Amino acid sequence: MQKVDHVGIAVKSIDVSLDYYINTLGLTLLAVEEVASQKVRVAFIDAGNIKLELLEPLGEDGPIAKFIKKRGEGVHHIAFGVTDIRSRMAELREKGVQLLQEEPKPGAGGAEVAFLHPKSSFGVLYELCDKSGKGD
Ligand code: ZN
Repeated sequence: MQKVDHVGIAVKSIDVSLDYYINTLGLTLLAVEEVASQKVRVAFIDAGNIKLELLEPLGEDGPIAKFIKKRGEGVHHIAFGVTDIRSRMAELREKGVQLLQEEPKPGAGGAEVAFLHPKSSFGVLYELCDKSGKGD
């Protein structure tokens, strides 16, 4: 793991919560995009040394929709920036870590992402986020 890239935060509405992050906390909005594969709309906010990733559910049956239904809004995951995500995934599997998917999925900003099962990570949902070769 090289560094924490971002913290993912589940929100019911990006439009509503952005006012708090931008106008109240004084942070800067970097980008908003939809990630169809994860049924979310995503806003990246510059928080200095890391980014905050606001995740708004698209529809009722995606992972973020389920998370909010079960636990309400709040911190959803912590993402480590990695390179060569397939090798990292293989290494972790060898060490007995359970991953939520076999293959990396397309994430926001052209990244490839994969998640570690919270059962393997003492209750924390960790994301591996590989932006190598995608700029940024
Ligand atoms: Zn993320």
